[in-house]
Amino acid sequence: MDRTVNDVAQQVSTGAMPGWDRVEALAVQAHARYASNADGHVADYIPGLAAADPELFGLAVGEIDGSVHGAGACETLFSIQSISKAFVYAMVCDAVGHGVIKDRVGVNNTGLSFNSVIAVELNNGHPMNPMVNAGAIATTALVPGATPAEQWEVIRTGLSRFAGRQLELDGEIYHSEMRTNQRNRAIAQLLESYGRIDIDPSDAVDTYTRQCSLRVSARDLAVMGATLADGGVNPVTGERVVSDQVCRDTLAVLASTGMYERSGEWLFEIGLPAKSGVSGGIVAIAPGKGAIGTFSPLLDSAGNSVRGQLATAYLSRALGLNIFASAPAHHSSAPAARKDAV
Ligand code: GLN
Repeated sequence: MDRTVNDVAQQVSTGAMPGWDRVEALAVQAHARYASNADGHVADYIPGLAAADPELFGLAVGEIDGSVHGAGACETLFSIQSISKAFVYAMVCDAVGHGVIKDRVGVNNTGLSFNSVIAVELNNGHPMNPMVNAGAIATTALVPGATPAEQWEVIRTGLSRFAGRQLELDGEIYHSEMRTNQRNRAIAQLLESYGRIDIDPSDAVDTYTRQCSLRVSARDLAVMGATLADGGVNPVTGERVVSDQVCRDTLAVLASTGMYERSGEWLFEIGLPAKSGVSGGIVAIAPGKGAIGTFSPLLDSAGNSVRGQLATAYLSRALGLNIFASAPAHHSSAPAARKDAV
């Protein structure tokens, strides 16, 4: 698309959250409402994840004023997995720019599962989507740094700045995944064969696997997401992590691809850019307002946390976060009731 609107200043579409006591109460209610739902399965294709306690469920809402409201196991640490893709993508966008990332990695949904090798073959090696493994490995390969160690340090430091605290590697998960990530190695080799990555494919997979193994909590996810909601400034630490344009671009990508092949359904039901990971985390971002971080290891067949989706849907609705929802400005403030209202 020709970006002929670049001369027009980007105005932001913001709104207000309800008061903090209401947000706090709704966070507790969202947790209570879905805590007993035991649908779904713990991911077991990475042996280290199979040991996760299926009972665990925590969530947090982070606001752009820096307040964070948690419920349940919101401090429990787990490996970030695919949610790292969103934040590494933002960092790489910041480093290489809008045009390069769009050409190299693409911004469209492949409609195929996150670990699809076929998607790479179907598109002449073009990853198409930065939120599935092929595009994420290609994105990680673009992280600034002369060596894998330098690239890893850039990622660890960058994601820690999003979280507002030093994030640590979960060594057990990292080693467990490195022993079983043959598909990702195949994807990286294919990307290399098509000239889509410039570094050694095994180094790209190693760094990608490390980024997926960083330990976060639902509370961390809420703060990381709130940083994307706050034009790139971490609302807790006050530090600028990425530019406001990068947040806008990242959220656009998350809206179309963040929930894998269920992204359309998610947007239809919940109306927020979001990213999930197979360890059971989800972060959903309400631009200009804040973010919801959830954690529960029981997943649906696409790899999205069941309780996390339900709780986020509840909070999106109750807090007025759906970016597509509006009511007539000059008539009634309440949307008209429809027979088939859901
Ligand atoms: N590290 C995992 C993988 O590459 C991440 C997948 C995910 O969270 N969807 O398979």
